[in-house]
Amino acid sequence: MTTHVREAIIIGGGVAGCSTAFFLAQEGIKSTIVEQESVGSHASGFAFGGLNPLDGTGTPYPLLEFSVHCFRAHRTLAPELLALSGVDNQFYQRPRLTLAFSDTDVARITEHLAIQQQVADFTVNWIDADDVFRLEPDISPDCVGAVLTQGSGAVEGYRHTLAMATAAEKLGAEVIHGKVTGIQRSGDGVAVSVGGNTMVTDVAVLATGPWCQEAEEWTGASIPVVPFKGQILRLQLENRELQTTLGWGKSYAASKPDGLIWAGTTEEHVGFDDQPTPQGRDAVMADLLRMASFLSEAQLVQHTACLRPLTPDGLPIVGRVPGWDNLYLCTGAGRKGILWSTGMGRATADMILRGHSEVPGLEHLRPERFSAATDS
Ligand SMILES: Cc1cc2nc3c(=O)[nH]c(=O)nc-3n(C[C@H](O)[C@H](O)[C@H](O)COP(=O)(O)OP(=O)(O)OC[C@H]3O[C@@H](n4cnc5c(N)ncnc54)[C@H](O)[C@@H]3O)c2cc1C
Repeated sequence: MTTHVREAIIIGGGVAGCSTAFFLAQEGIKSTIVEQESVGSHASGFAFGGLNPLDGTGTPYPLLEFSVHCFRAHRTLAPELLALSGVDNQFYQRPRLTLAFSDTDVARITEHLAIQQQVADFTVNWIDADDVFRLEPDISPDCVGAVLTQGSGAVEGYRHTLAMATAAEKLGAEVIHGKVTGIQRSGDGVAVSVGGNTMVTDVAVLATGPWCQEAEEWTGASIPVVPFKGQILRLQLENRELQTTLGWGKSYAASKPDGLIWAGTTEEHVGFDDQPTPQGRDAVMADLLRMASFLSEAQLVQHTACLRPLTPDGLPIVGRVPGWDNLYLCTGAGRKGILWSTGMGRATADMILRGHSEVPGLEHLRPERFSAATDS
């Protein structure tokens, strides 16, 4: 069903919510983003910001096409966002080395090489240790080789989220501070409870990240999103920079535009505890030194932790809430929420405006995939 939408309420001012508001604003729909703290104050503001569409969760199957679409959208958007918002999201493209230290690593990182090599705009090759050391001379000496990916990149997560919000505001959106405590149907629209007030709107979007499951009570729908904690270290080492982005297992490191080396990460199921821990620091540091032992001399400047929104199959949830006409979900992007936010926001806006979207891969993101388990 397509509604004649004039205005929307977006609940949550992370990258998912701000992207949706931006794409709606581009088509003249005024959104109000309701954020309980501040824009980008959780995972979106502390993420590493890597844009790696060719590996990790969801790739190559089933989201390779979606992920590449999202990456290309970032590449196009970065200069547009800067011009519109005045905020530089620090998009860059840089070679990425996915390192191997054992035969097991080699088998794992080359498993999808043939598929990755077919994606236009990227060059992906296995290179042996000598070539790795030529690119990154200070890599740990027992490296046996790497997959070199040329074409992927990164943004700075907080700046990107702020740029999306600011650009949306320039086009008529509004950000207000408040905690949403309930949602109800109201005629053809939706009534959203914020503090002691009720705001009625044509359409609403739930983009509350790891807190989305709270909305099960308000909507009666199954929204199985849980918090998945990750920690990042920012380090300083005078006059030393990584030339590439390094990856090994679930961990990564890169020199970022702020002059620091960022290294992550952990994967922790500890509920809503988002405090950095000494164990998290040591785990990230151990993986970092495995990749680049010279960084043992670096000084720790900042240590952050935050919560990714994770679904049971690791894929985002994008689409209309089952049983509702004018309420949408845009959440659950786990480890790839900065990358995927362009496709998620675009698709949510398309569905609101036109009832469908041309963004590829959306059949894997439908909210209904979790309904059967609840109803049976
Ligand atoms: C350590 C780490 C590293 C990461 N690195 C990368 C990376 O390299 N590349 C990548 O693509 N992704 C990365 N991610 C993942 C990415 O950060 C997340 O997937 C993404 O930020 C999730 O965005 P979101 O908008 O869904 O959620 P959030 O950023 O959590 O935003 C949700 C917002 O909703 C608000 N909210 C919640 N409940 C309410 C309510 N009731 N009323 C009002 N507001 C509410 C919250 O305050 C919050 O601001 C990383 C994540 C972590 C933790």
